[in-house]
Amino acid sequence: SRPPRPHRDFIQTSAGSPHHLRVRVMQWNILAQALGEGKDAFVCCPVEALNWSERKYLILEEILTYRPDILCLQEVDHYYDTFLPVLSSLGYQGSFCPKPCSPCLDVRDNNGPDGCALFFSRRRFQLLRVSHLRLAAVMIKTNQVAIVATLQCRATGRVFCVAVTHLKARSGWEAFRGAQGSHLLQQLKAISEYGCEERTEGAEGVPLVVCGDFNAEPGEEVYQRFMASPLGLDSAYRRLSADGSTEPAYTSWKIRPSGESRSTLDYIWYSSNSLSVDGVLTMPSEEQIGPNRLPSYHYPSDHLSLVCDLSLIQEPHRLM
Ligand code: NDP
Ligand code: CA
Repeated sequence: SRPPRPHRDFIQTSAGSPHHLRVRVMQWNILAQALGEGKDAFVCCPVEALNWSERKYLILEEILTYRPDILCLQEVDHYYDTFLPVLSSLGYQGSFCPKPCSPCLDVRDNNGPDGCALFFSRRRFQLLRVSHLRLAAVMIKTNQVAIVATLQCRATGRVFCVAVTHLKARSGWEAFRGAQGSHLLQQLKAISEYGCEERTEGAEGVPLVVCGDFNAEPGEEVYQRFMASPLGLDSAYRRLSADGSTEPAYTSWKIRPSGESRSTLDYIWYSSNSLSVDGVLTMPSEEQIGPNRLPSYHYPSDHLSLVCDLSLIQEPHRLM
């Protein structure tokens, strides 16, 4: 029998105003089945722990434990046969954008390309518009994608944008990720301005939430570009630290033949002038993760899920 899933506490980071609707967001690179079995070479993870027939339940269990209103996933290579039907029956609406040339396709018996997936609660939100972007690095089309959805809250009428992306992996590609990030920021600016029908002089676009596996530590160019962008974005997990401005020590922890890798790569960005972070799910401790790191019998991906509760703090144009 499997060991229990690590328990993680939810830390309240602000009082949260009772008349503002809370939106729970989950960001997670779930580890593509084809990559986990065929490419990643996790040396301390038993192959039996990677069987899709069991691993899919661990992924769904993680999602259902926190029941996010908005779910942003990377490395999804079982969208049509698993996540879309299961999550549809649980009240979610989804959108999937495969990578143009997914490395999953190199793996024998693969289940199709991996890509980004975005799910949201149909009860709470209506989809106004969705864009599937192929990210560019300066002028070059790349193999990385993003989904940008404009959602309207059914209860309040408020409109906001949610994006999910998975930037180019590996060291040596820092400038490439920086360029992909710039392209995404430019697209987000255009889409969020378009979504704001009641724009007034000097007003910014609609509130933004950008989730992703950026494959970049906080020191990297792409992180700095997001932090400094005119969109006014901040990273939700900084709220978890004692000083309120430090990213967690890791969001991914694995052992490959090349060695152990513990790194902070995943982020939930939000418009800090219009959204507040009311709560953040803590990261499991080193002890909870265990000596063989991730993935494992009790955690199905090499990346940890990020979950936070956001609420809209400003209603500049109207009171609803
Ligand atoms: P990336 O470099 O972005 O990485 C693809 C996946 O590999 C990611 O999901 C990443 O996971 C994972 N990964 C990262 N580091 C390692 C590692 N050390 N060992 C194993 N897996 C790792 O890939 P691209 O999207 O740029 O695609 C490149 C790959 O696609 C090629 O290797 C080839 O297999 C295939 N391909 C691509 C073509 C193209 O036009 N781009 C053409 C033909 C084939 P994480 O993000 O979690 O780190
Ligand atoms: Ca991966």
